[in-house]
Amino acid sequence: MARINDNFLKLKAGYLFPEIGRRVSAYTDANPDAAARLIRCGIGDVTEPLPEACRKAMHDAVDEQGDSATFRGYGPEQGYDFLREAIVENQFAGLGISADEVFVSDGSKCDTGNILDIFGPGNKIAITDPVYPVYVDTNVMIGNTGEADENGAYDGLVYLPCTAENGFVPAIPDKKVDLIYLCYPNNPTGATATRDQLAAWVAYAKENKAIIFYDAAYEAFIQEDDVPHSIYEIEGAKECAIEFRSFSKNGGFTGTRCAYTVIPKELVGYTEDGSEQALHPLWSRRHSTKFNGASYPVQRGAAAVFSEEGKAQVSALIEGYMGNAKLLRDACTEIGLDVYGGINAPYVWVGCPEGVSSWDMFDRMLEQAQVVITPGAGFGAAGEGYFRISAFNSRENVEEVCRRIQENLG
Ligand SMILES: *Cc1c(COP(=O)(O)O)cnc(C)c1O
Repeated sequence: MARINDNFLKLKAGYLFPEIGRRVSAYTDANPDAAARLIRCGIGDVTEPLPEACRKAMHDAVDEQGDSATFRGYGPEQGYDFLREAIVENQFAGLGISADEVFVSDGSKCDTGNILDIFGPGNKIAITDPVYPVYVDTNVMIGNTGEADENGAYDGLVYLPCTAENGFVPAIPDKKVDLIYLCYPNNPTGATATRDQLAAWVAYAKENKAIIFYDAAYEAFIQEDDVPHSIYEIEGAKECAIEFRSFSKNGGFTGTRCAYTVIPKELVGYTEDGSEQALHPLWSRRHSTKFNGASYPVQRGAAAVFSEEGKAQVSALIEGYMGNAKLLRDACTEIGLDVYGGINAPYVWVGCPEGVSSWDMFDRMLEQAQVVITPGAGFGAAGEGYFRISAFNSRENVEEVCRRIQENLG
């Protein structure tokens, strides 16, 4: 008898994006004429093509793979040195991170989920609300939670509400937790955390021997000078934080797949008998056993993000998306909605009009404006009353979305 992992049955069936898909199909089936007008600002996926520098580097790498003199088989599981070194030089200069603390992978979604492999049972896990759903679901799958209640909140998780009042950066908990997920610039709220706020989390983590999982997938979208780019800018973070970064959103690698995780060698967890154990060798072992390295051409493409041309092309992409974010912010502000995010992140987080729920707002935007947004409640109970508009779109589509928001909701 093949037993299954029963934890999978605790996962909520009505997961956000399938439910959005269901509602969009129902609407377009019933209104085929309107279907052609549909503009999707829902799922956070890039829309612009891969930078030329990356494509060129990948073409060259494919040609190398076609020549027995330059062909490469299995590479180092942790990533090629050329990429790990380029990452440290370009993203962590002066922060004391070394190339062998960077683990290259095929995605941050995978890394933020897989990281739980090296942590034991019984950890108290703190998750912001609203949140990137991957953090929650991977904890459910591995058995770190009980069942979900009717609002989708899982027994056993410590939810940290992120609200307009706290600037969408959670207060330090008044109880002890062991693993903490933080994501800044944030998906879905577009918020950033200040240096002082991160310092308070680092101090808490050190005092409680906790580990912070810091997801900085949107680091490249930071525009303001005083916003920290890495948790390692905070004194002491190397002793309590793992940072996740991805080429998905800056380099447009969502379909090409490349990311990395930083595990400083100072970082320790604890064995059952309470003795210290460095995390770096555990993750290295996990990576070597369950992963065989990201593809060579893809790692060459990722390294090209840090070439002179690559940097200029990535900047142009970011500038385009952030220009979209500004237009969306302005359109929503002009019709009197409360607008957050969109300044250092490609997501605009908007308060629904008084008395309108986030799913009602979703239906209204779909039916009246033929624009697909993401209802805040889909990211957690504290997301109720908000919706997220993604700035990942063509300028033309964004301008049209702004017109429709003003015509239909103004
Ligand atoms: C898009 C995104 C990522 C990146 O995931 P990949 O698997 O690298 O594409 C990571 N974290 C958050 C919060 C994201 O929105």
